[in-house]
Amino acid sequence: MHLLDILSLRPVPASAVFLSLTRRCPLSCRHCSTSSTLRSEEHSELPFLRLVSSFTSGLHPRLVLMSGGEALLRPHLVERIAARARESGTGSYLLSGMFFARQARIPAPVRKAIEAVDHFAASMDAFHEEEVPRRAVLAVLRALQAEDRDISVQLTGLSDDDPYLAEAVGDIRDALGDQVPILVGLVGPVGRAAKWADGRRRILTHRPMASVPAPCTMAAWPVVTFDGTVVACCNQDVVDRGGGVPAHLRLGHADRDGWPEIRRRSVTRPLLRAVRAVGPRAVATLSGLHQAGDYCETCRSLADDPRAAATADRPVFTLLEREARNRQLAEGPAGFARRFGSARYGELVGLGR
Ligand code: SF4
Ligand code: SF4
Repeated sequence: MHLLDILSLRPVPASAVFLSLTRRCPLSCRHCSTSSTLRSEEHSELPFLRLVSSFTSGLHPRLVLMSGGEALLRPHLVERIAARARESGTGSYLLSGMFFARQARIPAPVRKAIEAVDHFAASMDAFHEEEVPRRAVLAVLRALQAEDRDISVQLTGLSDDDPYLAEAVGDIRDALGDQVPILVGLVGPVGRAAKWADGRRRILTHRPMASVPAPCTMAAWPVVTFDGTVVACCNQDVVDRGGGVPAHLRLGHADRDGWPEIRRRSVTRPLLRAVRAVGPRAVATLSGLHQAGDYCETCRSLADDPRAAATADRPVFTLLEREARNRQLAEGPAGFARRFGSARYGELVGLGR
């Protein structure tokens, strides 16, 4: 499964689901959006397994994406999820910070987990390189490439003009024969980076489409958070609130809600649909509400407001949501990568196609 196949699903509501398998991580990168350490929270495996077990061949997401913290601290769980997902026709994706690359050999359980998934992505950036040498990560990726595995690099920099990005992109392309897609993102002021990202470097951690109204493009894929709470988007502020998330962004809990229920709520909840169609600011304006702060703060403020609920009930949002989705599909995977991450390097998601 090439990265382009994954990103082409991004605008389609409930076509995929994120699983945050653990907040723990053996690394301590200075920009970590989840503020992960080895002592961070880790909950039971059961909610994740239950949710994936509720997929059927007739009703399942196209893709399940596993991350953390470091998902490979739970290699057996990764393997089980990938295997169970495949039984119902769901593909699997795994993102790792590559802690294991520091060892001479990939530990057997980690290798089995990587072999179990349909796409493996490695995080790389200047902060990771303080913990794991780039050459070690590239050596693992070269070995996986030689086995014909579908892999990609998730590279992060400070801005489009960050000299690190130019140098690292060149090095990765050389080392992997220009055949491995690279998704280039920019550090956002969340998690540990919030402590040092200054005003000049502050970028939106969520970028709606540039048009007016500006639809939210992050609310299509549900996220199962570390404790099993299921939320509507991958905004880290929302994910970190767990059970305290605003009502319209809370889709349930993987302990008791199966995929059919989670999917139904994600696809049909009126306020969520309206946010996907025109964005929270337009919903607030149409409802006579003031803007509560930035884009996502405005979204969170819509919860439980009867005027926002009445606005979102209008049938026109069904049409507007479809229109917003079609515009994103026309933008394509590189367009998504340019908007969500680095505008300069967006095209690199197509390498190796
Ligand atoms: S590898 Fe990822 S999860 Fe771990 S500390 Fe670094 S950024 Fe955070
Ligand atoms: S606008 Fe709302 S749904 Fe979209 S990313 Fe922000 S908080 Fe999440």
